[in-house]
Amino acid sequence: DIQEVQYIWKNGEIIPWAEATTHVLSHSLHYGSGVFEGIRCYENPETHKSYVFRLQDHMERLVRSCKIAMIDLPYTADELVRATVDIIKANGLKKCYIRPLVYRGYGVMGVDPTGAPTDVIIAVWPWDAYLGAEALAKGIKVGVSSWRQRSNNAIPPAVKATASYMNSLLAKLEAKAHGYGEAIMLNEAGLVCEGTGENLFVVRNGVISTPPLSDGLLEGITRDSVLQIATDMFEDGEIDACPLEESLTRTDLYVADEVFMTGSAAELTPVASVDERQVGSGSRGPVTEALQARFFDAVYGNAERYADWLTEVE
Ligand code: PMP
Repeated sequence: DIQEVQYIWKNGEIIPWAEATTHVLSHSLHYGSGVFEGIRCYENPETHKSYVFRLQDHMERLVRSCKIAMIDLPYTADELVRATVDIIKANGLKKCYIRPLVYRGYGVMGVDPTGAPTDVIIAVWPWDAYLGAEALAKGIKVGVSSWRQRSNNAIPPAVKATASYMNSLLAKLEAKAHGYGEAIMLNEAGLVCEGTGENLFVVRNGVISTPPLSDGLLEGITRDSVLQIATDMFEDGEIDACPLEESLTRTDLYVADEVFMTGSAAELTPVASVDERQVGSGSRGPVTEALQARFFDAVYGNAERYADWLTEVE
């Protein structure tokens, strides 16, 4: 649930939450012509310092989304980074979820967006564990969706577009109806892509792998962080194999020792079963647990090595 806070950043100004409205004939409301981001700000429980995780990288992905969607973004990534820090401070939040959205606003109707203004907002609000607090320790049940992932030549998964989430929403509701916490989408070739709001990893015989971007998935920032952390663990001799980006089939999910999902909202959530087939012990596996611990060290500012990933909100 959205928990109201005082202010929202809109088109360069900080305005009251209740005034951050849009016209019912806004282009993106009708044609899905918006792109967005999802980011988290964490508060270190000991030092009480607040850090936004990979803020610059998220804003750079937003800029790339705009480029693909041919939206002229009137701000640079650096300006949006500063605006994010400003809106967190204006609301006095120590930890929050951050939702930048760029959308074609009010002014023209018809699919051709030419002439519609580009509106940009950044909203922040407190948001707990996306898939439930228990899920981070115990894992969730997931199912392969009957809905296929939008393809690279339909609605490109590399764009974090509002339009993509019709696809995600169909899969999410189906998963919920089946009693699953999340859905896994396959592409038209039958290869594993991702969850409705998460990337996906498997661990088998000590090898960590995740589908390549070319199979049609979002270039997740948590995915990238986990690949970096796992590569560092391999180089330090803490795990036996370097992580791989390789295509996966649904049977790879069934026979994996561990499966987990990653996302800014979902963080690093273990998968307990896939299509009623228990994964490993049916709870969080050892590799998942080790990666999760490192990931949380990084986001909370407890890992010097990953300090570059953090923007402090002072
Ligand atoms: N895939 C989809 C479809 C998503 O919506 C998200 C969440 N942004 C992810 C993957 C994970 O990306 P990130 O780690 O950058 O949040």
